[in-house]
Amino acid sequence: MKGKRVMVVAAHPDDADFYCGGTVARWAAEGAQITYLICTDGALGADTDAVTMDQVAALRRAEQHAANAALGVRETIYLGYPDMSLAAGEELRLAIARRFREQGAYVLLLTNGLLLARQAAEAAASVDEVIVSLDGGTAATYAAIRGIDGLPRVLDGIRAVRAGGVPVVTRTTLQRQNFREMPAIIQAAREAGANRISFLTVDVSSLHAFGPRFTADAALTVVSEASDPAAPALSPAEVAEFAQVIEQVIAEYADAFASGLIAESPDKLRRMVQYFAALNGDGAFPAPRCNAPHTSVVVEVDGTLRPCYFLPAFGRLGADALRLSQAVNLPTAQALRQAYRAGQRAECERCVCPLYKGPRALLRM
Ligand code: SF4
Repeated sequence: MKGKRVMVVAAHPDDADFYCGGTVARWAAEGAQITYLICTDGALGADTDAVTMDQVAALRRAEQHAANAALGVRETIYLGYPDMSLAAGEELRLAIARRFREQGAYVLLLTNGLLLARQAAEAAASVDEVIVSLDGGTAATYAAIRGIDGLPRVLDGIRAVRAGGVPVVTRTTLQRQNFREMPAIIQAAREAGANRISFLTVDVSSLHAFGPRFTADAALTVVSEASDPAAPALSPAEVAEFAQVIEQVIAEYADAFASGLIAESPDKLRRMVQYFAALNGDGAFPAPRCNAPHTSVVVEVDGTLRPCYFLPAFGRLGADALRLSQAVNLPTAQALRQAYRAGQRAECERCVCPLYKGPRALLRM
């Protein structure tokens, strides 16, 4: 852990010591620079009326400093929210993000954008980049997909964040309800000042990522029924229409492709047509270019480990006292890596966001 920086976020003074004091002491002894970020003042920690809340807060802070000295924690930051009034909203997340950023982390905010305009100043001080979901090019489509009349607010939010100098990427998941609006989405994002405009296709089949929101079954059967207006995949007639929309976008926005404003290449957009056609059994799925299981790992909040969001779990951090470096080489992990490389995983065939990192990107990691 020598040279590593660790930030432990906790609600109250002494929480972190109970949860992970042993780990913190070990990492500090190994040379890590540990910072505690404590969100509340801990003023409600007493079980007697003989002391005031201010006295309790002061006592717990003093105890925290004593614990820090014993464990080797270098610094403690107090956000100072009143005890019992912590709300897990964007305000708290931005306050925490700001401290991560101050410690040198690159902070990326993924958001629906509905509160961005109100929190633009805080976002500008707290994050390095913002990714905003932009699900429609018209207010009606946005409302139909998101269930809220929020498009003007989202676009105002993008403008406000851009005015603060933070780069914004819009991301649209293309599906039955919005594919015709690609030109309107590009127009709206461009007028709002977005730096990049990105599209991906809807996932209707993955058991481990987004598919369960629809009606995927254990055999990864794809939902694509023209008779069901709520099904997000495209019918054969809609696929043909989508192909025309893509060609129109490629022809009309050549400048946006050339400048990188549209993140995907024309060929990648055409592969999206191929993907929707294949969902209907018309041709093969586009071959994914991906090395995600060899270059990254997904760690879930309970320590569950996956090679990517779409493949099954291969282990759990902490189980059998495994370290991450050991867990990623478990036989189950190796078997999954071999299977995806050999083209034996159905999830890869239908994957909506394969991730390929070339040698230059890997050297920057
Ligand atoms: S193609 Fe998709 S499912 Fe397959 S390994 Fe890559 S990210 Fe995972």
